[in-house]
Amino acid sequence: MRFLPVFLDLQAGPVLLIGAGELARAKLRLLAAAGARIRWYATDGNHDVSGLDSAGAARIELAEGDPLAADLTGVIAILCAGAGDIGTLMSARAKAVGLPVNVMDDLSHSTFIFPAIVDRGDVVVAIGTGGASPVVARRLRERIEAVLPARIGDLASFIGRWRKLIHNRIPEFPLRRRFWERVVDGPIGALVLAGRKDEAEAALKDISDPTAFAGGSASGRAEGSVTLVGAGPGDPDLLTVKALRALQDADVIFYDELVSPEILDRARRDASRVPVGRRVGKPGIGQDAINSLMIEAAKSGQRAVRLKGGDPFVFGRGGEEVEALREAGVSYSVVPGITAGLGAAAQFEVPLTFRHEALRITFLTAHKARDAQTVDWSTLTDERMTVVVYMGMTAAPSVRAGLLAAGRSPQTPVGVFARVTRPDAQAAVGTLDQLPALVEQIDRGPAILIIGDVVAHSAPWRHPNLNHVITQLLEAAE
Ligand code: SAH
Repeated sequence: MRFLPVFLDLQAGPVLLIGAGELARAKLRLLAAAGARIRWYATDGNHDVSGLDSAGAARIELAEGDPLAADLTGVIAILCAGAGDIGTLMSARAKAVGLPVNVMDDLSHSTFIFPAIVDRGDVVVAIGTGGASPVVARRLRERIEAVLPARIGDLASFIGRWRKLIHNRIPEFPLRRRFWERVVDGPIGALVLAGRKDEAEAALKDISDPTAFAGGSASGRAEGSVTLVGAGPGDPDLLTVKALRALQDADVIFYDELVSPEILDRARRDASRVPVGRRVGKPGIGQDAINSLMIEAAKSGQRAVRLKGGDPFVFGRGGEEVEALREAGVSYSVVPGITAGLGAAAQFEVPLTFRHEALRITFLTAHKARDAQTVDWSTLTDERMTVVVYMGMTAAPSVRAGLLAAGRSPQTPVGVFARVTRPDAQAAVGTLDQLPALVEQIDRGPAILIIGDVVAHSAPWRHPNLNHVITQLLEAAE
């Protein structure tokens, strides 16, 4: 990010506009509509402002003389549009005194740029592309326009009017934030968005105990909670709407190593982020310590999120955590996530069930060869069962041995799917007999094994993948 969006206070002083023609007039219209005071040097001497309403025109001061000699005292920003070479010279002047300057269509002489704007009164959305593509910005703007409620600006100003009063009545910040969340998310917010401001006003006045409305305890403290959230296998777009909301509301996030940075990026900016998982080669802090951290956070009134890869209840120890929370009397909830097996199935087109061919699915884990020995493979011999193995890379030889010994055909199709739904996802498909060799083809985990006839329907099976072709080419070259 080179350009940080900030909002300029147009009440603070005039904006200097230098330039002529349609380019300058477009900026005039933009600034006048935003309520700016504008001091305009028309470089071609044509100060015609027809087309502006009288209020806009009244805020324009027509300046004469050399703009390069203009008095910059009190000016808040400089804009050059259709100003020719004067733009470059003006940019140097502005930079020398530290004033923000924009030279239209000239990034190298600009210290700020104009975003695409969605304008809903007090709510303004700025969209930037670092100057790279106004078309992308405009498309994005259309999409935002489409999802923003028309009266979102009214909602912001409604809250603005009550802010001070509520501030006095709920001095504690976290509780106050919750108060406003309940207003925005609840019936009062809905009334404002429906254009029924008077009723909203009355409903807010009716709240006799704002602390209780905000869900605070009698002591006036915010009530804490823990939400176990499934982060999915890696692609942030696979977060559920509910997971996203929990991440946006969180005060603190305890996350596993499996959770991708792109997902953490979607959390509230000022939430603290605490890694609690195992790192490669290093043990984690342990389950008991994680439980204590969550309980402590909730008891101190924080909204904690326990963020886990995939789904919290699929080989994620979510069950143990919920038990600990229940025992500690902490309020909690669980938001499911897309488990790695389902992510792999969708990405690589492995239908986990298939009419007549695959009627059952088993999810199992075989972390170490030792675990694999404790699996009762004889229950997994049904040809019409798809077997999904978590944490099975190391134990792949034992998985193969167990299934073969139990009588499953060595020709059974299998797939090893690594880092699924991430940009560097990888797949290797073949037969059960080849399973350990397939795992060898995988650069690094995490990876999931899928065993069963349905793997023959998968995309990498149908189109032997590019990696494969490249490997063959390389081998041929040697
Ligand atoms: N709760 C998680 C599973 C945790 S166990 C879930 O529901 O997905 C960890 C194992 O999950 C890894 O060893 C691997 O087998 C699998 N896994 C997790 N993320 C994965 C990914 N992006 N690609 C492939 N396998 C993954």
